[in-house]
Amino acid sequence: MALPKIELPAYEVTIPSSGKNIRVRPFTVKEEKMLLMAVESRVQSEIITTVRQVINNCILDGDLDVDKMPFFDVDYLFTFLRGKSVAESVEVRLTCNNVVDGETCGQEFKAEMDIGKVELIKQDVSNDIKLGPAAGVKMRYPNYSIMRKVEELPEIDKKTFIIVSSIEYVYDKNGMHSYKDYTTDELKDFVEGLTEENYKKLEDYIDKFPTVAAKIEATCPKCGFQHHVRYTDFFDFFI
Ligand SMILES: [Zn+2]
Repeated sequence: MALPKIELPAYEVTIPSSGKNIRVRPFTVKEEKMLLMAVESRVQSEIITTVRQVINNCILDGDLDVDKMPFFDVDYLFTFLRGKSVAESVEVRLTCNNVVDGETCGQEFKAEMDIGKVELIKQDVSNDIKLGPAAGVKMRYPNYSIMRKVEELPEIDKKTFIIVSSIEYVYDKNGMHSYKDYTTDELKDFVEGLTEENYKKLEDYIDKFPTVAAKIEATCPKCGFQHHVRYTDFFDFFI
């Protein structure tokens, strides 16, 4: 006879972009191992496939398509699940940068970060970017796969790649031109053909993408400075 299956707990979580509630279960030990191996491989395609698969496994109801969600929804869900699966509290090392009498304190100390209380930081930015009298670009948030693939590109190509992947449509007096009707190279030519000034407007949009962050509040044991740190690189937890 097969061994009984021990039921996994279920939690409710709100998807940041839609405000919809879904039910999820934590990662199993096997899934945690798969994630660890993927992150250690540093191969982005491996990380994308594994994160997508594990998140899909953990969604108990609701028809959610991980590929269609904006990247920060996946970051948020991933961090939430990790908090429920492994530990809500993670130890991080901080270095005090407070200046006392003209000298940087420099004290290293440990602090606790509560990943059960991550938040989405959203900046006020319009997705309709005017580039001329009757012309402009409507932007959208790229998905998780796009944002991970960026990591494999040379530094100089990263921003343009994200901008190109964030175009929903270009408009002018003749109407709307959806990204779906153009190749990536055509979109890239369009972006690289802009003036510096217009390019900066698109750059500003992607620089202000929402980010998932955890707050750390800690007091330096040496100088007593109160640190308020926002932590955003959650993949560090694994390594
Ligand atoms: Zn200090």
